[in-house]
Amino acid sequence: MPRARGGIDLGGTKIQAVVVDGDSAVLGQARHPTPTSGGPADVAAAMAAALREAAQAAGVETAALAGVGVGSPGAIDAGAGTVSGAGNLPGWAGSFPLAATLADQLGTPVALGNDVQVATDAEVALGAGRGRRSLLGVFWGTGVGGGIVLDGRPWLGRGAAGEIGHMVVKRDGRRCPCGRRGCLEAYAGRAALEARARELHDEGRETDLFKLAERHGRDRLTSGIWARALEHGDKLATELVDQAVAALGAGIASAVNLLDCEAVVIGGGLGVRFGDPYVERIRAAMLPHLFVDERPPDVRLAALGDLGGAIGAALLAR
Ligand SMILES: [Zn+2]
Repeated sequence: MPRARGGIDLGGTKIQAVVVDGDSAVLGQARHPTPTSGGPADVAAAMAAALREAAQAAGVETAALAGVGVGSPGAIDAGAGTVSGAGNLPGWAGSFPLAATLADQLGTPVALGNDVQVATDAEVALGAGRGRRSLLGVFWGTGVGGGIVLDGRPWLGRGAAGEIGHMVVKRDGRRCPCGRRGCLEAYAGRAALEARARELHDEGRETDLFKLAERHGRDRLTSGIWARALEHGDKLATELVDQAVAALGAGIASAVNLLDCEAVVIGGGLGVRFGDPYVERIRAAMLPHLFVDERPPDVRLAALGDLGGAIGAALLAR
């Protein structure tokens, strides 16, 4: 039997670790918050702790794993094993030897990949994109990330491909967290939605979003808070999420017009939380913008859910 492998999805808010068997079935998992202070060494220590906990749950030593894969934000140099410019992580503006640091702590080889790309690869290998030769993964969460598979292989460009969140859906439009204007993420990213909701609330618009967050002990508007507000028919939340869906439809259609991919898989915190009804809404919002009407791509919900990033990272360790 092939040996168990580890996978770590390094996010801005959480570190998700899994240990999987040779068929990518999850044997153990653990989730830790991402440190908000310190530097890359502290983040690496938290990652190692999460993986050790997942290994313990799986009943294996980390040193007995065939390897560990990591899906990371920032610019990845897989050959050098470094991550640089991970702006959402504390003190991580420069370059850090993440692979060597983790390998030392875990006693097994560590391979690095881009977080969104490994989640996309996981959907193609094991999830909603199985058997597809071309696919666009759209991860609708705090930001809006994208992964591309063409001719059965990841398309990384020069290392920064797939940034669908920064496709322009409105010239001179709303300010994006990236500092530019009119990006898809400015209308659809969870962080941008929260900033916009706060702005409108401060201007006197009524909404229960912030009361709901307080009641549930959240200091930010999580996917769950947005889902609850929508269920309650909160007008402001509905209006903003409607705009997000329209922006996603336009942005995804533009990408499909360029790539002519067979399928689109929607994942991410908001995507997974809102589920199939919203995938259908995004699909409907995409259709009018497609250049070729006769054969729209399949649009599917990510099948691996929250664990997709970590399971995809574990594929790097094969
Ligand atoms: Zn942007």
